[in-house]
Amino acid sequence: MPTSLVTGGAGFLGSNLCDYLLERGQRVICVDNFETGSLKNIQHLRMDEFRFIHADITEPYEVDESVDFVYHMASPASPIDYARLPLHTLKVGSYGTHHTLGLAKWKRARVLLASPAEVYGAPRVPPQPESSWGNVNPIGPRGVYDEAKRYAEALTMAYYRQQGVDTAIVRIFNTYGPRMRENDGRAIPTFLSQALADKPLTVFGDGQQTRSFCYVDDLIRGLVLLMESGVHEPVNIGNPNEMTLLEMAQTIVEMTDSRSEIVFEALPVDDPQVRQPDITRARQLLGWEPEIDLRDGLRQTIDFAVKQLGGAQQQTIVDPE
Ligand code: NAD
Repeated sequence: MPTSLVTGGAGFLGSNLCDYLLERGQRVICVDNFETGSLKNIQHLRMDEFRFIHADITEPYEVDESVDFVYHMASPASPIDYARLPLHTLKVGSYGTHHTLGLAKWKRARVLLASPAEVYGAPRVPPQPESSWGNVNPIGPRGVYDEAKRYAEALTMAYYRQQGVDTAIVRIFNTYGPRMRENDGRAIPTFLSQALADKPLTVFGDGQQTRSFCYVDDLIRGLVLLMESGVHEPVNIGNPNEMTLLEMAQTIVEMTDSRSEIVFEALPVDDPQVRQPDITRARQLLGWEPEIDLRDGLRQTIDFAVKQLGGAQQQTIVDPE
C-alpha cells in the first residue's frame, strides 16, 4: 500500500485529496497546524490507514515511517487569509517548502508542489500557458502570496535539478466545491452565503472580470494523475470554461432560489481581469480534462453549504451561547 503525505491536509483541497487517496487504497499522513484548515474537514477519517500529525511546517518536522508521495498543499490561499498572515504566507512558501522538499529527499519520495495561477500575476490576455512567465506586482497586497509561490517553484526546480529529487509542480486555477469556508472571501462561497441568507451579492467592479471555475473532484483527479506521471515541468489544472463574475453571481441566485439582489463594490487592488488556463499540456501529458459540468458542481456545493447552515442553526438552538 503506497503512503502519501499531504501537507495542509485539513484544508479545503487537502482534505478532499485525503479522501480520494484513501478511497484509492493508500495510507495517508496529513500534516497541518489548522492555521486556515479545520478539524471538521478530517474528523470523519477514523480508519487505521489515516494518520494526523499536528505540525507547523515552517519549523523542521519529521515523519517516522516511509513515504512514497508528498503532496505539498499547505499555505494560506485566499486573499483574506494572506492579507491577515503575510509573513506566515512567505514563511510557508520558503521555510515550509524547504522542509517539505528536504523530507521528500530524505524519504526518496516524489513530491508535488501546489502552485496557483497567481504565479502568472495579472495577465491581460487569456488563456495562460505554462510558458508564460507572468506579470506579478511584488509589492502589492497580493505580492506575499504570488512571490512565495514563485519562490517555492524555483526551490522545487533547484531540488529537482541539483538535489535529484523527483518533483512535480501543479498550477491550480480557481477551484470550488464542498468544504470551502463560507467566509474565506473567495467569490463562490461569498455569493453562496449571501444568496442563502437573501442578502445582496457583492460583485467587485462591474463584474465583467472573468474566472474559470473547476470542480474540486476534477482538480483532485488531475493532481493524482500528475503525481503518478513522470512529469517535472509545471502543468496547469483548471477548467477552461470562462465566465464573468456577474454571470456566476446570477447563476447562484437562480440555483438557490434566492431573493437577493446584486450590488457592485470597488475592485480590489491587482484583481486580475482575466483568469483562464490553457490545459493543452494536461491533456497531452496526463490525458486529463475536466468532466464535471458547472451546474452539477454548484449543486453539490450548494447542498453542502445548506447542510452546514442547518448544522450551525441547530447548534444555536441546542446551545444558545
Ligand atoms: P486552505 O486554506 O483551505 O488549506 C491550506 C491548509 O494549509 C490549511 O489546512 C492550513 O491549516 C494549512 N497550513 C497553513 N499553514 C500551515 C503551516 N505552517 N503548517 C501546516 N499547515 C499549514 O486552502 P486551499 O484552498 O485548500 O489551498 C490548498 C493549496 O492549493 C494552497 O497551497 C493553495 O495555494 C493552492 N491553491 C488553491 C486554489 C483554490 O482555488 N482553492 C487555487 C490555486 C492554488
